[in-house]
Amino acid sequence: MEPMSTCKLFGAIRAVIGIKNTIPVIHGPRGCAYHIRYLLSVRSGSRIRICSTELSQEDVVFGAEDKLRETIIAVDETYKPDLIPVLSSCSTSIIGEDIQKVARELKDDINAEIITISAGGFESDQSGGYEEVLQTLIEDITIPNHLIKEADKPSINLIGVFRGGPDLLELKKTLKRIGININCVLTSGSSLEDIKNIPTAHLNYSFCDVSGITPCKILENEFKIPFTYYPFPIGFSNSLNFFKTLIDYFGLDYPIQKEYDKLKPSIDYFREKLGDYKAAIIAGPTRAIALASFVRELGMTPALVSMDLIGEYTLKELQWALEGAKTRILIEPELGEIEKLIIEEQPHIILGGLGESYFSYNLKIPVLDIMHGRELTWGFQGALSISQKILNLIKRRFKA
Ligand code: SF4
Repeated sequence: MEPMSTCKLFGAIRAVIGIKNTIPVIHGPRGCAYHIRYLLSVRSGSRIRICSTELSQEDVVFGAEDKLRETIIAVDETYKPDLIPVLSSCSTSIIGEDIQKVARELKDDINAEIITISAGGFESDQSGGYEEVLQTLIEDITIPNHLIKEADKPSINLIGVFRGGPDLLELKKTLKRIGININCVLTSGSSLEDIKNIPTAHLNYSFCDVSGITPCKILENEFKIPFTYYPFPIGFSNSLNFFKTLIDYFGLDYPIQKEYDKLKPSIDYFREKLGDYKAAIIAGPTRAIALASFVRELGMTPALVSMDLIGEYTLKELQWALEGAKTRILIEPELGEIEKLIIEEQPHIILGGLGESYFSYNLKIPVLDIMHGRELTWGFQGALSISQKILNLIKRRFKA
């Protein structure tokens, strides 16, 4: 009754807007475009362009393929994008508008590349939208256009990354120092050329448990590129193990352990300050698992871990992260279930997103919004930043 996951269209839009110079067209009423743009703007702090055919009541009864045609042409002429993803919504999926036919007919008349995604909100949750976009990009852009060449230096693709900002910059910087190149980030910040060049890399790293694994498997079958998915670089140890996995895979000689060792006094300091506190984690599975092991590293108790969705390897990873901990776990919960456990567990801090901020007001539990795209959370610098913010919030609230 009070779902904590959203619709397929949201996932599809979130995945496509990461691609450089891309403007999606939603074939549907204006509300879908407005609400999704609003939410994504708040989460990312960025200007986001999403166009819509803005269907009327008459359009959703009798169909509006002409309107779709006109909108695609107008978007192509006005904004000159490299890629126009055309997405159906609930109403146009129900009446069976043939967005593929319209895209096929326009292919040679517009400058942009065009892909189509069936994205009726009821078709699945957001994970279905993420996954279908990644799959469509690989099948429609990578496979037909790729060049057969191999990178001359160690090179990886990150699969299932939908947020750029300081996190991606931090990771790129550290990997460059190590001697590893990020070839393509599917999708955040990549160009169409990067997507065509995906097979150049030596390894794929899935960054999303619910949408990254299937595309990695497709790339493994098609191009024989192996993949890995664990750990996710949030936290000191998780980041160390993430970098070690890559250093070992490529047989590089880089003193990452020394970089970690230099951080030990800081880790000890945070452990001493935070050891008596409990955290609740409300996030997607990949982040939630990494955060759970991170708060344990800080000496805190992960009292509650709530995940909106789970993927193929989530439960196995969760077992590794929470071994021996007394943590209450919610999988695909409703909002009321989260509220109930928050009240029962009374955590000292919630690691979540903007949606959890009302806990600050109502229950006086501080919330750290680690979902905001401008927040640094990855790598050693991300671990330092989150630790300090957790400590600041707890100090302010509990005078620690
Ligand atoms: S559930 Fe349907 S109507 Fe609502 S935003 Fe998603 S596609 Fe649009």
